[in-house]
Amino acid sequence: MSTPRRLLDPDRLAADLAAGSRAALSRAITLVESTRDDHRELARSLLTTLSGSAADAVRVGLSGVPGVGKSTFVEALGTLLTGRGLRVGVLAVDPSSVRTGGSVLGDKTRMPRLAADPNAFIRPSPSAGTLGGVARATAQTITLLEGAGYDVVLVETVGVGQSETTVAGLVDTFLLLALARSGDQIQGIKMGVLEFAVVVAINKADGDRVVEATAAARDLAGALRLVRGRSAGSPAGSGGSGWSVPVLTCSGLTGDGIDEVWAAVLRHRTTQGPDGLADKRSRQRWELTWALVRDELEQRLRRSVPVADTADRVRPQVLAGTLPAPAAADAILRAFDAS
Ligand code: GDP
Repeated sequence: MSTPRRLLDPDRLAADLAAGSRAALSRAITLVESTRDDHRELARSLLTTLSGSAADAVRVGLSGVPGVGKSTFVEALGTLLTGRGLRVGVLAVDPSSVRTGGSVLGDKTRMPRLAADPNAFIRPSPSAGTLGGVARATAQTITLLEGAGYDVVLVETVGVGQSETTVAGLVDTFLLLALARSGDQIQGIKMGVLEFAVVVAINKADGDRVVEATAAARDLAGALRLVRGRSAGSPAGSGGSGWSVPVLTCSGLTGDGIDEVWAAVLRHRTTQGPDGLADKRSRQRWELTWALVRDELEQRLRRSVPVADTADRVRPQVLAGTLPAPAAADAILRAFDAS
């Protein structure tokens, strides 16, 4: 089914987007998520038009294992922010969507209040074939949300796989939710994630969990100081030294501590300073440029008929051991270059 030309005019779409049309925003996101060549072309013109605008959102990454309370937290934080007159976009980067086409994140029914809030926009994870594809779509969607005047963009991800690395490369501040377990231990933190986290919050600190959450937060803060003190570094996303990771407690359910978590995010932003932030964004743009190139090349490789033909031809020989893998790779690359 072809989409009417009028709907896909990038200038018109950019104007509608800037005027706050949610329909235009949805349409634009669908464009950047598409793998169709003509859609990608349009998406590129649209993004070029938008990149001229100075709009800049507070970009926050949020991670935590399933069940840690991410949706409840986003619902609480998002509502708090829209209540202050801010416009909030919520995106998801979910590796499971790459494998299954379905997503455990970003489902609007998980955040009913925010989903009904005219100042909030929730988008589930794109299932764009590869994590690179998802990163590309998410990065572009952030630009779209900024072009549409959103003040805050929350990018949510589950604490598995490479998704934190991907999200950390797209945001200013990376926030990790964890849980206290009985015995004051911390649950649901993989050490890798702590490399990116610049603010940690022990969630579900309510009712009879408050005491253990507070103790767990204190212990983790101490452990982090020790680890980071030894390696003499701040986390990768912190924008340099001078930032010591606060470990807070909060409850998405009651709303307790949510404001303090947000204050820590803003404090981290201030610590990075306008130059630090601009620097970080510049580096991210260049990394994204290459991610886009790699993604596009992968798509072209996958679509190329001569490549598929050559692969079919050399595969049995490689499997049988009669053609060395490097020679087969050369043949496939020659077919690609000639196509
Ligand atoms: P997600 O999988 O990380 O998105 O977690 P959810 O937000 O869906 O929450 C998982 C479960 O924990 C649900 O049953 C929630 O009601 C519960 N929950 C979430 N946040 C809190 C909280 O702050 N306190 C308590 N006591 N329960 C919570």
